[in-house]
Amino acid sequence: MDHHRQPIVAGNWKMNGTVPFARELTRSLRDGLTGQTDTEIVLCPPFTALDAVARELEGSTLLLGAQNLSERPAGAFTGEIAAEQLASLQVRYVIVGHSERRQYHQESDALVARKAAAAFAAGLTPIVCLGETLEEREAGNTEQIVGRQLTGSLAGLAAEQIVQCVLAYEPVWAIGTGKTASAAQAQSVHAFLRARLTENHGLETAAAVRIQYGGSVKPDNARELLTQPDVDGALVGGASLKADSFSAIIRHSA
Ligand code: PEP
Repeated sequence: MDHHRQPIVAGNWKMNGTVPFARELTRSLRDGLTGQTDTEIVLCPPFTALDAVARELEGSTLLLGAQNLSERPAGAFTGEIAAEQLASLQVRYVIVGHSERRQYHQESDALVARKAAAAFAAGLTPIVCLGETLEEREAGNTEQIVGRQLTGSLAGLAAEQIVQCVLAYEPVWAIGTGKTASAAQAQSVHAFLRARLTENHGLETAAAVRIQYGGSVKPDNARELLTQPDVDGALVGGASLKADSFSAIIRHSA
């Protein structure tokens, strides 16, 4: 059984950047990174820039991701975006259950699981986010919370889908705050998640699933985090908006 997991680093641009900004950033990243690393690199611009970024990425090894999708396939859902529409823009990955969506849009584990299923139905791979708040960590409930999020957010997926999922452990208190989990804190939760995956889905699946760390990853903390045995890459917010910092993080990942 081969347990090698290809590192995966994704940049979550959030609600930042116009189309010209997105083009410019993508060109710099593409020219600096194509073929340079064994790490899978995913850019997740806002919906409005997906098409422009897709065009810039043609012929490069960098992949395109979206930040959200509808759980429904099509229809009268004004303002929503369906998986098939993303797939038609060369999108390969889609972030689901980001803490900002859980917090500001009341996304539940059950909804996240339906979004992950909708992604797979159109051939997209979900990046399923989970993580505890500061209050939950201080109350000693981190494992209980992330364990419940893990089981709930993957509910109903087929075994062959679970194995393809990318998980992102993102402690809410570390997102956009400049506070990073220590490498030991991250490794401990990642190992817990892999053990829970083993219980729920078996050893082989658990050994194959990639688990990213996210939360104020920067060039100067990336190496320590990304060399932990159960940390298989990073989901990067703020530092993904600059070509030099995102590239430096990627260079620390392989
Ligand atoms: C994120 O939003 O996924 C994230 C990790 O943000 P930041 O890197 O800015 O903390």
